Amino acid sequence: MTSFEKFLGSGSIFKNVSVLSPHYIPKTLYYREKQIDDIMSYLAPSLKNQKARNILIYGKTGTGKTCSIKKIIGEFEKVQSKAKMHYLNCRIYNSKYRVLQKIMKDYWPELEKAGFGLPFIYEKLLETLRQGNYIIVVLDEIDMVKDLDDLVYTLTRANDEVATGGITIIGVSNKLSFKENLDPRSRSSLNEVEIVFPPYTSEQLQKILEQRVEEGFQPDVVRQSAINLAAAITAQESGDARYALKLLMRAGEIAEERKKNGVEDVDVEEARKRVEVDLIAETVNTLPEMHKITLYAIAKLSLNGSRYYARLDGVNDGFLMSGEVYEEYGICCRQLRKKPRSLRWYREYLNDLEMLGLVLTAPSSKGIRGQTTLIKLGHEPDAVYKITSDVLFGGSG
Ligand code: ADP
Ligand code: MG
Repeated sequence: MTSFEKFLGSGSIFKNVSVLSPHYIPKTLYYREKQIDDIMSYLAPSLKNQKARNILIYGKTGTGKTCSIKKIIGEFEKVQSKAKMHYLNCRIYNSKYRVLQKIMKDYWPELEKAGFGLPFIYEKLLETLRQGNYIIVVLDEIDMVKDLDDLVYTLTRANDEVATGGITIIGVSNKLSFKENLDPRSRSSLNEVEIVFPPYTSEQLQKILEQRVEEGFQPDVVRQSAINLAAAITAQESGDARYALKLLMRAGEIAEERKKNGVEDVDVEEARKRVEVDLIAETVNTLPEMHKITLYAIAKLSLNGSRYYARLDGVNDGFLMSGEVYEEYGICCRQLRKKPRSLRWYREYLNDLEMLGLVLTAPSSKGIRGQTTLIKLGHEPDAVYKITSDVLFGGSG
């Protein structure tokens, strides 16, 4: 008789899939002892009622910044003190107001209700410090904060205004260049200490993958050559551990679909194609709606090629003109019964999309209808179109 066993997918490949998720924090973080140690040593004063210095942490995506910081927060919380680390993902908390409100809610639950003005929240911040609290603000993906200069200035000023307590900022960024856009004053106050997370090498990725294979897969299922291949592909592309883990997980799924009892090189090769789409989809899903619509408009036009630019220049290298994209954006908004925002906002959206690597922009050469911005998708138009139309129109766009 058939049992349900074979339908339950506790298959022959995986032991525990959650180990392969990007949110899983492994017990040991290899190759980051030095960085973690350094950060902890800089933070230690705040556990002894002294203000710790501000820290900037840099490194490309998937170099272990977020999981290292979370590990540190875990350790920090084990020590009794008047200091608290607040973790904020700035894709969500992307303005001075949101950041301050979020932190202060931890001390003043009444702020849970919306509608308190900034001056009131600022007073609460001073009061918190006067009570002798040490506030450590971790701003992950700090480059997403719109008014960062303002935020840094406000936090620094609060610090200076009171004789007790202290605020320390830990900024975490994927972009080495983000500092260039800061005003010199906030740059120098943010940058008291700098810690770099270098990309992983092929050998390091191999070791990281082996650890997950052991926890996440059934014994002896993943061939060593498949692990090595996933590590090598990743090292060549980016050194991004998140990418390597995705590759491994997809390879496992493909092997399972193919009813194989082992994960081999061919499965990793096949997985490579799917992972790119996954990664784009993940980024797109975290975007606010107007950004999604802008990206959708760019993808839609990219599929057909520029109406103007190609014709004028006699080439089609995938670039669109900013004006035609804005027009298309307006059309898409109306389709979705949303009010299109002004050009000023639209430029913000483009800027944010570029920061995330979803689009590239370049100034046009002079003479094409004056000077305009040219826009190109950072990924395959087909993939981006499918992803954005799925999230906006539920697949029927
Ligand atoms: P970042 O914040 O730098 O983009 P993350 O900390 O989010 O990178 O790491 C991405 C993924 O890679 C996570 O799933 C994490 O568990 C894994 N990872 C990164 N570095 C290591 C490491 N040294 N050892 C084990 N896993 C790691
Ligand atoms: Mg991160």
